[in-house]
Amino acid sequence: MNVSIQPHAADKTVSPSDLSAAARKFGILEMPSLDYTPEVAAATASIYDKVSHVIPEIEWPIFAPAIHAINRLKKERNAVILAHNYQTPEIFHGVADIVGDSLQLAQEAARADAEIIVQCGVHFMAETSKLLCPDKTVLIPDMKAGCSLAASITGADVRRLREAYPGVPVVAYVNTSADVKAEVDICCTSSNAVDVVESLGVGKVLFLPDRYLAQWVASQTDVEIVAWHGACEVHERFTGEELRAYREADPSVRIIAHPECPQDVIAEADFTGSTAKIIDWVKDHNPPKVLLVTECSMADNIASETPRVEFVKPCNLCPHMKRIQLPKILDTLVNMREEVTIDPLIAERARRSVERMVNLKH
Ligand code: SF4
Repeated sequence: MNVSIQPHAADKTVSPSDLSAAARKFGILEMPSLDYTPEVAAATASIYDKVSHVIPEIEWPIFAPAIHAINRLKKERNAVILAHNYQTPEIFHGVADIVGDSLQLAQEAARADAEIIVQCGVHFMAETSKLLCPDKTVLIPDMKAGCSLAASITGADVRRLREAYPGVPVVAYVNTSADVKAEVDICCTSSNAVDVVESLGVGKVLFLPDRYLAQWVASQTDVEIVAWHGACEVHERFTGEELRAYREADPSVRIIAHPECPQDVIAEADFTGSTAKIIDWVKDHNPPKVLLVTECSMADNIASETPRVEFVKPCNLCPHMKRIQLPKILDTLVNMREEVTIDPLIAERARRSVERMVNLKH
């Protein structure tokens, strides 16, 4: 069989002055062959075992050549590939070196002995990696991979909030731009948001940008929370009514929600936690049937490690995460684009907000 996917072709007409700094530093490579050969089939067989529950065997020749080429090129480039839990299974299991939530990815990347980071996730995640790995070249396969939460607020908005609430400390979820992180006192993740808020030792904090995460934090602490009005466009689509219908259809189903969901959804959940905590919960409890109230690819990615668990999926996909695809990752490694950079003055202040959270004693 000779099946191949169409890569983004290496652009032969680009002059040296048009190249990114990363392309000038590391050079451009030839686009590899994407034929599905017996060698490719053999080299990717163990990867296919991990994704066979979601990718039919007949479709594997579409993915395998790019996976094989990416895995070869990342070694040649001394690159590490980070994949968020919401990436599709062929990326998550096929080419990623490090998987996890955005902070886990950036922290692990800082420990990795690689010159180049390829961030399979959205732009604020690539920025967080750049903040924690300033000496590494950070590339993202699609610069347009954004996030409705990160887009809901700017650094200027935070400065206006500070004027409106003088003296009230500002906590920012990591789902924010470096520009915003530079203006706040400390960052948090959905895992540690309550601890971060309480660590400040004050009666009131400004919490941004996710209003639902802010409501969830407010339900867990006595600290008064003043919330920004942002929302994740994926998690806010779930409804409590939808979940009640699933539970009525099968009372044995366990419902696990991400705290970016609206309150009526969280009220229906048996457990609420970050993506990392959701994965731990499913592995620890091994329930016969689980409904994950989060981005759809999560269940696909953890299913191979939890074979006894049946996942019920109300499937909401993140359109930004889904911009990252194998042909674009291949293009990134061949052409060294697109590079994520941060103004050094902003980076220094933004890094401080992230490091304050990382250094928090629990
Ligand atoms: S799932 Fe929501 S929070 Fe995550 S990247 Fe997509 S829009 Fe942003």
